[in-house]
Amino acid sequence: MKLFELTIHELHEKLVSKEISAKELAESVFSRIDDVEERVKSYITVTRDEAFAKADEIDKKIASGERIGPLAGIPTAIKDVMNTEGIRTTCGSKILDNYIPVYTSTAVKNLLEEGIVMTGKTNMDEFAMGSSTENSGFFVTRNPWDLERVPGGSSGGSASVVAADEAIFSLGSDTGGSIRQPAALCGIVGMKPTYGLVSRFGLIAFASSLDQIGPFTKDVTDCAIVLNHLIGHDINDSTSVKIDKPDYTKALVNDLNGITIGVPKELMAEGIDPKIKAVIENALKLLEDNGAVVAETSLPNIEHSLSAYYIIAPAEASSNLARFDGVRYGYRVPDAEDLIDMYMRTRAEGFGDEVKRRIMLGTYALSAGYYDAYYGQAQKVRTLIMDDFNRAFADYDVLVSPTTPTTAFKIGEKVDDPLAMYLSDICTIPVNLAGLPGISVPCGTVDGLPVGLQVIGKTLGEEMMLRVAYSFEQSFGWSEKPKL
Ligand code: GLN
Repeated sequence: MKLFELTIHELHEKLVSKEISAKELAESVFSRIDDVEERVKSYITVTRDEAFAKADEIDKKIASGERIGPLAGIPTAIKDVMNTEGIRTTCGSKILDNYIPVYTSTAVKNLLEEGIVMTGKTNMDEFAMGSSTENSGFFVTRNPWDLERVPGGSSGGSASVVAADEAIFSLGSDTGGSIRQPAALCGIVGMKPTYGLVSRFGLIAFASSLDQIGPFTKDVTDCAIVLNHLIGHDINDSTSVKIDKPDYTKALVNDLNGITIGVPKELMAEGIDPKIKAVIENALKLLEDNGAVVAETSLPNIEHSLSAYYIIAPAEASSNLARFDGVRYGYRVPDAEDLIDMYMRTRAEGFGDEVKRRIMLGTYALSAGYYDAYYGQAQKVRTLIMDDFNRAFADYDVLVSPTTPTTAFKIGEKVDDPLAMYLSDICTIPVNLAGLPGISVPCGTVDGLPVGLQVIGKTLGEEMMLRVAYSFEQSFGWSEKPKL
């Protein structure tokens, strides 16, 4: 096994026992990047010099006998939606092509303080709007399992980077599925925490009531390790929750005796590829064999999730994106005639089609005459969906479903059909609307492409969710990797 193929927990032991140095580990990962990045195209920016400087620092600590935490020296990629001081941060958009933030987002800062070695910033759909990374203002990222297919989105670069071993783990953001969906399509673990558990300070806002940062990892153990250091109350984010920090690795118990698992029938209905359904049914059997009680349940209102989401998310986006006006950040047209001309042409040239579509939809939904009919109504539907989840969680410890209705689709297949693209998140969007935690774990393949099992937890129910995901992973024993 090459170093770049190992997990955080395996590498940590090797670093502590001085079997390897952080520098050797960084060399291994960057040699992998040199080898495959041209084909996969995960990164917008690679921060090689900074990475080696940080690895050196960690090696000095180890040499001086200082105790290091589990993330120290671990090569980590960050979705380009999170601000990093002094390092270009584009959000996948031409409008931020030349933007260098003056501060670092809290989530990234938390990990940097733990000693991660940042390898670079990953490609994404512009402003995190999309399900394939084809909406990036720069280039398309490829799925390491099949370079003609999409890695999913919007955090496609953060998923492909881990699947292709170009980083040991990465961070993404999930507004409607953008961590879990690409994790499923790339055969890795991806987790969206409870809304408010991870600070959004310094995360470039898409839809503020839905956005959450979370990890992409090679296994559930690594996910728990990263989560331990990612979370925490932040005075800079008024929606960040105040809780005593649990040790999520304690939840990694391989035992499901007496655990109740509900399967929402609406998420196994038509629209889900029958071959995916078959893989999920096998996964359910495995959960039962491990002692869980698995039964069908219902979330009757989630059929309205997509409609509610595509009002709420664009509405919030239209308001959040008003700040990109050519004055405060990034791109400005060079030859404007006056202020209005500058605003209009900067935004016309700087934003891509999908972002413009969302700004128009959102502005319309929030306009005086339509506010109640659209935004108000969508918020009411959102409450009904939350009530559905609450009722289900009265009977079940977790809910499970497929993460996606299909495996990775071909590049170009859905770009001209936004509605078909929006359907990719049919199983993940309800979870964001309700603010719940969700994780996708690999559970098999269909025609050689990975399939993800989604485990949904109660509000702040990360521990039970991780326990179910971990037990499944241990008995399933996923070891397949893309051949690059
Ligand atoms: N695909 C969904 C959208 O386009 C979700 C994106 C996300 O989670 N950031 O809005």
